[in-house]
Amino acid sequence: MMNRMFCGLAGILIVAYVSARGEESHLSAKDNEDAAVSEKPTVLTVLYNNIAGDERCTAAWGMSCLVEGGAKTVLFDTGGNGRILLRNMEVLGKDPGDVDIVVLSHIHADHTGGLADFLARNSDVQVFVPDAFPDSLKADIRETGAELVAVRGPQKITRRIHTTGQIGMMLKEQALILETAKGIVLITGCSHPGVENLAKRAAKVCPDQPFRLITGGFHLGGASRKQVDRIIELFRSLEVRKVGPSHCTGAAATAMFREAWGDNFLNCGCGAVIKLNSKQ
Ligand SMILES: [Zn+2]
Ligand SMILES: [Zn+2]
Repeated sequence: MMNRMFCGLAGILIVAYVSARGEESHLSAKDNEDAAVSEKPTVLTVLYNNIAGDERCTAAWGMSCLVEGGAKTVLFDTGGNGRILLRNMEVLGKDPGDVDIVVLSHIHADHTGGLADFLARNSDVQVFVPDAFPDSLKADIRETGAELVAVRGPQKITRRIHTTGQIGMMLKEQALILETAKGIVLITGCSHPGVENLAKRAAKVCPDQPFRLITGGFHLGGASRKQVDRIIELFRSLEVRKVGPSHCTGAAATAMFREAWGDNFLNCGCGAVIKLNSKQ
């Protein structure tokens, strides 16, 4: 999947490098960073999802979510197809050159498939991957000029964004934790290690903060009602205020979350925009 990454990069790279450098120097001063964090709401935009949403977007199997509003713009997962990812970004008015950091949840192609095409547009980024990724894939990412960060335990990605660290027995997966004025937001890729385990890890990484929102793939397509009920119970005990399950959550489980959360259930299909301002 990385083969296309090496084709025709040079011209694009120069342009991406110059524009991204200018941005970085603007944002590297600490006062600018603080101002950016306090004034702008955190905005999540679902760039890729098999759950349909905004009709201008192409819905396809996979997941990608853009996180804006902090000092750095973070792309979480890249969907399954780079052309669809870049097209959805274009119709939603998102410039690949504005992304500073890419985080890949896990190695499945519906989350990593768009990476090569994305890096061909902007490789002046850090790419956080589970350390369990094969060395060959890590090398391919470094080859593009991107800075690879192999994640083991929980760590900060920016001042207010953390990774849960890679968890899971066979398949390692990480999720994103955003700190906002009104609590933490957990964004999951596929939740193969269990969305309940990612949520418990997030509660440990950011203790004593309510969960403002959990969104992403919950991987409950084959789960029984009892299993989903247990997760709903856990979410309630963690005081999860809003939920936005999508991608691989499964229709039956999604309906249970919708019923349990009512008005606090968010539709997070392709193209959905979630503004997390301090008043909400
Ligand atoms: Zn997966
Ligand atoms: Zn998936």
